[in-house]
Amino acid sequence: MPPSNTLSGAVQDDDLVFVDETPAAPGSGPGGAWRVLIVDDDADVHSTTTFALGSLEMHGRPLEFLHAYSRAQAERVLERERDIAVVLLDVVMEQADAGLHLVRYIRDTLGLHDVRIILRTGQPGYAPEMDAIRGYDINDYRTKSELTRTKLYTSVAAAIRAYEQLRALDASRTGLAQVVRANAELMALHSMGEMTQGILREAALLLGQPADGLLCACAPAGRPAAWQVLASCGDCAALVADGALAPAAAPLADAIARTLERRANVYADDHLTLYFRGKSHSDFAAYLRLREPVDALRRGLVDVFASSIAVGLDNVALMTDLQRAAFYDPLTGLPNRTRLVELAEDALGSHGRPDATLCLVDIDHFAETNDALGHQFGDALLVAVAQRLRARLDARLALARIGGDIFAVLGPCAELDPLALQSMFTGPFSIEGQDVRVSATLGLVRLREHDGSAADALKDADIALKRAKTQQRGGHFYFSRGMGVEIRERVRLMHALRSGFARGELFLAYQPQIDLATRHPFGAEALLRWRTEDGRFVPPDRFIPIAEYSGLIIEIGAWVLREACAELMRVRAAGHLDFTMSVNVSQVQFRHPQFIPMLRRAIEESGAPPERIELEITESMAMEEPDLLIERLAEIKRTGVSIAIDDFGTGFSSLSYLQRLQVDRLKIDRAFVTEITGSARGSSIAEMVIELGRNLGLSIIAEGVEDERQAQILQALGCPLAQGFLFARPLAPQALIEWLGRDALTHAA
Ligand code: C2E
Ligand code: MG
Ligand code: MG
Repeated sequence: MPPSNTLSGAVQDDDLVFVDETPAAPGSGPGGAWRVLIVDDDADVHSTTTFALGSLEMHGRPLEFLHAYSRAQAERVLERERDIAVVLLDVVMEQADAGLHLVRYIRDTLGLHDVRIILRTGQPGYAPEMDAIRGYDINDYRTKSELTRTKLYTSVAAAIRAYEQLRALDASRTGLAQVVRANAELMALHSMGEMTQGILREAALLLGQPADGLLCACAPAGRPAAWQVLASCGDCAALVADGALAPAAAPLADAIARTLERRANVYADDHLTLYFRGKSHSDFAAYLRLREPVDALRRGLVDVFASSIAVGLDNVALMTDLQRAAFYDPLTGLPNRTRLVELAEDALGSHGRPDATLCLVDIDHFAETNDALGHQFGDALLVAVAQRLRARLDARLALARIGGDIFAVLGPCAELDPLALQSMFTGPFSIEGQDVRVSATLGLVRLREHDGSAADALKDADIALKRAKTQQRGGHFYFSRGMGVEIRERVRLMHALRSGFARGELFLAYQPQIDLATRHPFGAEALLRWRTEDGRFVPPDRFIPIAEYSGLIIEIGAWVLREACAELMRVRAAGHLDFTMSVNVSQVQFRHPQFIPMLRRAIEESGAPPERIELEITESMAMEEPDLLIERLAEIKRTGVSIAIDDFGTGFSSLSYLQRLQVDRLKIDRAFVTEITGSARGSSIAEMVIELGRNLGLSIIAEGVEDERQAQILQALGCPLAQGFLFARPLAPQALIEWLGRDALTHAA
């Protein structure tokens, strides 16, 4: 059986299992002969039949005769022998209807439906029931005398033709089933790699030949040739290096080019090329080497296969693109944040404690570069950084771009040296013909010391990076558990503050400010207090930075201002009309575009006189963005409120700059007041501030005055105003009015 032999060769070569499904060539006996079984109890009939038909050839194939002389013997022959095309069957043998029984046995018991049956009978009067002829697919019924040589010849020839057609149908049915199965199997694959290998494998199965070929993606005809070999197998695999075809494969490339050009499958004797039309961007083509030419039947099947697969291939290509978009950064081609988290998860998932470090690399001052030189330049810089890092980093380290100017490196601790990484930034980057120098700040986390998820590890590295950025730009920090606890505590506090504010846990305390000469209050500073549900006080130094950091300060600050204005009105209602209310304003509030409208609203709605309101801004804030500040202050002044610089002396205000700011008062920081009596340096700074204020025509107040000696020295130095525990602690609203009332009484007395 030549076709089956080739097939079993394929099976051995490639360990493929599908023997039964192979579309076999129309059946034939050894040597390609048509097998005819003669069943007759009359030996003469056997010899006359072989004599009559012996020279018959069909499609160039001779006849081969098998002989049985009884129904029983015929049954055994049929059980044993395969590919019998025609049975010439005597009806009357052991029994009068032995032939008919044999027919039933062939069709029902053996399930042989292709074999053609010609009934012959010696008795002219005896005819089988018509039902049997119809029901058992009997081709011809003749009396032996009727069957002249020519008639027998014609009858057998017709039967063989019918048999051949049935076998061909059978073959294409199994072939189609195979195409359908191959298709279903390939559609279940979602990666390009699996799909392309699968196509080569299935095509080989369908051809019944060993898998030897390649599959590539190519730009469609008309566009510049761009090749990428996606899969290869068999001997062809040796012709591919790094996804490209070796020079030795030129004939293959020609064949593929031809198929792309013709947009059709092309069959040659020793190879075939398949064309798969891609919808999105590239077409696909396969080259398959053949051991023998492909017959018409298989061609048909392969064509059906190729066209049905093209759709799937296109879908997988689309999926691959989606995958790429989901996991890779389009600018640098590096893995993105999602992919990095996956990689880190893999590292964390590997058994034992992972010996890996995750390092975030933040390019210093990238935003400024981007703003100053444009996004295109910024992009080029990022690409250059990506390329340099990839080229210089150990191959075991994964590199990703996880944010605008943040790269991540992940890999074995021993290979990830922060100093070596930073030194990669030493040389300039050449961008658009310019030398650009950038440095990087690193935040690292050792996965061994980390017990959360990969996403948490990334957060930890980010915490370390933030720490490095605030404390040591261009340096690096390893995450420590302490950092995490601190951050978590801050996050917890932020949530508590948000809900505490909503629940009304915040209130204001007022610390009187007095005139040192008369020891009379002239105003008070509103100080924010937070008493939590369980009665604990959280100091403002702790929660105000959190309110600023989270933006909550905008809402809280507006509330403070309204509340302080309302208190001012109550104080005024109690008769203290010369009273001034000082309110602290943080930098975040001050920069907010709605700050001035908010201020105006608070004044209007409370009816408080603006000249009795003072805003305290810190000196460090006064130093930032001078132009913006000068403009803002001028605008604020137009509302009628006055301005004090808080904690004065701690920052680095320049004299000339101070002159340009329209402030009204300087508050000497508590540290310098304490210094007056507490340190050897004595009053030097306080003295300087007082002198400065006097020269600039600014009012001066000392804060944190705790004892009488400090008060007297300050007064002697020419400081007219003060605030501190010596005079009064911050007071609850009701307590303030009582305190003011008592003071007024003692003064009157
Ligand atoms: P600050 O504006 O410099 O407030 C003065 C701080 O000194 C207050 O601390 C006050 O209680 C404290 N103090 C006053 N006299 C003495 C004294 O004789 N001895 C000592 N040791 N301390 C004294 P407090 O209330 O803890 O406020 C801390 C800081 O929180 C304030 O410093 C201010 O910067 C900020 N803050 C308070 N309330 C607000 C607010 O409503 N908004 C904003 N943005 N910041 C506020
Ligand atoms: Mg203050
Ligand atoms: Mg202060």
